[in-house]
Amino acid sequence: MLTIKRRLLLSHLLVILLGAGTLGLYLYFAAAGQIVDAVGERVLDNARVLAAGLDGDELDAVSRHSTPGAAARMEDRLQRALRGNPDLVGAYVAEVTGTDVRVVAATAPGAVSEGSGSLTVDELALLRGGLKAATLGDIAAAGAEGNDLFALAPIAAAPSRYVAGVRFRASSLQESLRTLRLSTLGGLLFGVLAALVLSRLLAESLQRRIALLGERCRALAAGDALPPNQVAIGDEFDRVIADFDATAQRLREAAGGREDALTALTAANAKLETRVEERAREIEDATGQLKIEIENRLQVEALLAEAALTDALTGLLNRRAMLEMLEQAVQASRGQGGFSMILADVDHFKHVNDTYGHGIGDQVLMAAARELESLHGDSRHAARWGGEEFFVLLPGTGLMEACRRAEELRARVERMPLQPRGLRVTMSLGVAELQPGEPLEDCLRRCDQALYRAKDAGRNTVVIARGNLFATMS
Ligand code: GH3
Ligand code: MG
Ligand code: MG
Repeated sequence: MLTIKRRLLLSHLLVILLGAGTLGLYLYFAAAGQIVDAVGERVLDNARVLAAGLDGDELDAVSRHSTPGAAARMEDRLQRALRGNPDLVGAYVAEVTGTDVRVVAATAPGAVSEGSGSLTVDELALLRGGLKAATLGDIAAAGAEGNDLFALAPIAAAPSRYVAGVRFRASSLQESLRTLRLSTLGGLLFGVLAALVLSRLLAESLQRRIALLGERCRALAAGDALPPNQVAIGDEFDRVIADFDATAQRLREAAGGREDALTALTAANAKLETRVEERAREIEDATGQLKIEIENRLQVEALLAEAALTDALTGLLNRRAMLEMLEQAVQASRGQGGFSMILADVDHFKHVNDTYGHGIGDQVLMAAARELESLHGDSRHAARWGGEEFFVLLPGTGLMEACRRAEELRARVERMPLQPRGLRVTMSLGVAELQPGEPLEDCLRRCDQALYRAKDAGRNTVVIARGNLFATMS
């Protein structure tokens, strides 16, 4: 992974290598050129100085061995020329005659001996070419071949015959260049090292700042207090950290506000729930109460309804209830069979009341009601029509059967045991059957007429209405 540390290291190395490398190479080549030039110039100067100090006649004497000791003096002079410059390894004088080259004097025991055998190919070529001015040998070739560098200068007193030559230790030049290369390389290495150290310091500083930011993020996520910024140096990171702290503060305040709101909401919710529970209980109680009240009222209403349809004294249906039932029976008779009716009236009831009292009269009415019920099997079709009058509805019963029932009722009432002992009552009864398509009122009226006829017939009698005709049964 390319971390910040590595990126900084790479960038520093690149800068050092490109900058310092380029500059170092430039300086190296410039310095090397100057060293080479300076050395060449110095060697050339040595050759010139040596040539200027030699005399042609003396050289002739040395060459021809005409003067004793001339060769030794010449050698000594050459030796002296070397002493001034320790880098010079040898000096010599060569005599050039056409293409013939011969060393006539040389430093002893130098690299050059008399004759021409010890001269290099380059020296011989230059010497044979007819040297007009001081000339330096090829520095590059000398360095490459491991030879010494040489310079030749014609001796002015004998321009076409004698040439002074000096040899310079090429290894010394190589030494200087090596030192220069090492210095350059050392500088470059120092630069690289400095880049490494600098990039490391910078990277660590950046990493510390990033780590600080990371600590803050973790602290914010964990809800802990933010650590202090101990390494504030006023750079961009400080501004980022300050912005982060401000944002964290705002987030915490917002979270605190939300928590308060949540707490308040929870409390309000709990309060509301308690209230709702209380209200629910109240409603439940009220509902229970209401239910009881409704049940009571329904019971009362049922009782009232029953009372409204029931005769209080006898417990039979009252006239209104019987009229409703008759209406229903009329409706039902349109699809199915018809019905018959009996209208019964206690005979001389006023006399009973007058004789035995009203209470006994009531007892008689109740006893008669029981007989009506037993006739029919239930009280649903028997009614107190009013006063001492009773009505019996016989659904699905023809006139003859109704007549038989009426007769049975009459007989029962006649035999009805009553208190006080000896009290006997009778009933007169009228019987009628609803004719197809006959209005109820007409049938009732015919039945009523039958009852009147029973009274007229002497009471304790059953009269049937057959259409508008009446027949006494008993
Ligand atoms: P008739 O044979 O012609 O029917 O004669 P009646 O005396 O039975 O008829 P009337 O109409 O003259 O008299 C009926 C009497 O019935 C008059 C009234 O005081 C009496 N009565 C009506 N309702 C009650 C009642 O609820 N209780 C008692 N004890 N008497 C009643
Ligand atoms: Mg009557
Ligand atoms: Mg009567």
